Amino acid sequence: MAIDSKTLHSRLKEFFGFDSFKGDQEKIIRHLTSGKDAFVLMPTGGGKSLCYQLPALVMEGTAIVISPLIALMKNQVDAIRGFVDGNDGIAHFLNSSLSKAQISEVREDLLSGETKLLYVAPESLTKAENIEMLKEIKISFYAVDEAHCISEWGHDFRPEYRRIRAIIEDIGTAPIIALTATATPKVQSDIQKNLGIQDAAVFKSSFNRPNLYYEIRDKSDPKRDIIRFIKQNPGKSGIIYCLSRKKVEELAELLNINGIKALPYHAGLDAKTRAENQDRFLMEEIDVIVATIAFGMGIDKPDVRFVIHYDIPKSLEGYYQETGRAGRDGGEGKCIAFYSYKDIVKLEKFMQGKPVAEQEIGKQLLLETVAYAESNQCRRKLLMNYFGEDYPQDNCGACDNCLNPKRQFDGQEEMCLIIELVESMPEHFKIEHLANILAGESNALIKSYEHDKIEFFGAGKDHSFRFWCDVIHQGIVRHFLEKDIESYGLIYVTEQGREFNRKPYPLMLTEERHFVDGEDDDDDLPAGAARSGGGGDQVLLAMLKELRSDLSKKLHLQPWILFGDPALEDMSITYPVTCDELRNCQGVGEGKARKYGKEFTELIAKYVEENGIERPDDFVVKSVANSSSANKLFIIQGIDRKLALEDIAAARSLEMDELLSEIESIVAAGTRLDLDYYIRQTVDDDVVEEIYDYFRNEAKSDSVEDAMADLGMDYDETEVRLVRLKFLCEVAN
Ligand code: ADP
Ligand code: MG
Ligand code: ZN
Repeated sequence: MAIDSKTLHSRLKEFFGFDSFKGDQEKIIRHLTSGKDAFVLMPTGGGKSLCYQLPALVMEGTAIVISPLIALMKNQVDAIRGFVDGNDGIAHFLNSSLSKAQISEVREDLLSGETKLLYVAPESLTKAENIEMLKEIKISFYAVDEAHCISEWGHDFRPEYRRIRAIIEDIGTAPIIALTATATPKVQSDIQKNLGIQDAAVFKSSFNRPNLYYEIRDKSDPKRDIIRFIKQNPGKSGIIYCLSRKKVEELAELLNINGIKALPYHAGLDAKTRAENQDRFLMEEIDVIVATIAFGMGIDKPDVRFVIHYDIPKSLEGYYQETGRAGRDGGEGKCIAFYSYKDIVKLEKFMQGKPVAEQEIGKQLLLETVAYAESNQCRRKLLMNYFGEDYPQDNCGACDNCLNPKRQFDGQEEMCLIIELVESMPEHFKIEHLANILAGESNALIKSYEHDKIEFFGAGKDHSFRFWCDVIHQGIVRHFLEKDIESYGLIYVTEQGREFNRKPYPLMLTEERHFVDGEDDDDDLPAGAARSGGGGDQVLLAMLKELRSDLSKKLHLQPWILFGDPALEDMSITYPVTCDELRNCQGVGEGKARKYGKEFTELIAKYVEENGIERPDDFVVKSVANSSSANKLFIIQGIDRKLALEDIAAARSLEMDELLSEIESIVAAGTRLDLDYYIRQTVDDDVVEEIYDYFRNEAKSDSVEDAMADLGMDYDETEVRLVRLKFLCEVAN
């Protein structure tokens, strides 16, 4: 018997404090309360929970809510208990975290009819004793939340979800409501079939989130990009998703070092830390949470202003769900994802150990992601189409492709050339190999196949290697070519490709959508290093070197003692004009900047002024030191307290040699340490003087190796290293 609208509204107000329903909520609730199945597709934040919570409270019996997220259950149950004061029995959850005593409490409340809502984890639902217990009670309906978990084509497949129908039959049937935020037409039909609700009324709200802005960025220098973005958006809350825990940790640390309040969140952290970090984000003590995908399910922070994908997600479902956490309040929500094809290759490699069927699916989902990332069409339109919805406009005005349309060219001939090349060879090759052949760039592999002798070699030499890689990718996305992951990415021509080559037609390809291959995962380069080796202002660099040489003569110091080459190169790139800015250059600490920097910044300021140079509104990303910063801090404090180096080493389980390396990297970063107390005790005064003089007057660099070679066998390496440190701290830093 359906419940009338007036009653529903008054319950809505009474229990949840809301004045009106959102979207289709009321329709859905009336449908369910009249005893019929429902299938709800509503974007994240749309208000799905209420579609079963309210009916559960007003209907006779207990509603069984199947949800995959144990952590979330407790929150939801607490929330319901909060609505209905003083009656904790009203909602319960059943999952593996409960003790025996807690389970019997649940049982009691269930049997007495007090419980209106029971959240169950799918694996608990399969347990015989739970099934027996549920058989004894009256069930109002079953809600299957996050229903996409049923489908292998969803982004979060859970095998136990496929048994739900059979278990429901066993316990006793009742209406079913399935809910999800992400369902392609394929997933949607999987869900309905599997739950046996083909006849259910489907309530599909638009998935469009007009307030979200979508952008795909080239992953050439993502850390820098991210830091810049956050600095341009001070005080705003954001989530950054990375695929690995390691990356999460690293990035969170890097952000902190660069003055951004951020914390990590991933499944490797203990529950307490995770809860704390999440709370601090919700309470806005920190601005940014860096997380693996585990974060965000069930958190309900309305004003997340940006969601950044450091790594391209494995599927568009996942991507859309995660971006959906931005701008829930309808306000600004910027969604930026970094993309490089290298990441795709990496993800494909991870899949190789999996069963073939799973690989096939994974590969398809990934391909959709590549197509999305590389496309020059409106991203909103692509996403809507992906979720089976039409987006009638061509220009949404809120995605990178609509705001900056990419140039296109007719790539008909180029595509045919690639197809012919692949077809001409009896064996199959990878993208890079094919691109090299067409661009006419030889290498050992090409020579070994004598591919530099075939007619195709250099057939497309008007274009670069990169260009050909891009066109091949676009061919894959359009299904003219296929990349086989089992054979490590060899390229095949598809039937569609052959057809195209037989009867080609104009084919608009994107120009200059040039995704630079990403950085490697472990390349936390020291500040500026990524950009050194050219790229700087060569005229300025020459002037800086001249100045260094003049000054070093005047001060009777070796040039390297003033500033090393990497520091000068950084100056020629970032044009620092203040002491503070200078400190961002490699190997320049506060002391050095103050002691020797003035002439350099003055020269740069004059140069900038005279040449009308626009200085980059730029900054150097301060990098995470190789070892843990905790170690560094401990060492610096130990030396301040004049502890024997042996004791410091022992406390940190370091060899003396390792400790010295740590100290060297601390000093190289520009921190000054006073090691005299230790040197005086352990090194002979004369020896100190001799080595010190050597560095001051003879050394051509601060290399320990050179020093050992120059000084001869009379000196112990540890002594040389210690005195060198003393010298660097006193003179160079
Ligand atoms: P979903 O599960 O669809 O992602 P939730 O059920 O978590 O979304 O709801 C998202 C937010 O919307 C919650 O903060 C919830 O309190 C709020 N909400 C739900 N229904 C209404 C309503 N009728 N009026 C106002 N806010 C609502
Ligand atoms: Mg939900
Ligand atoms: Zn658009």
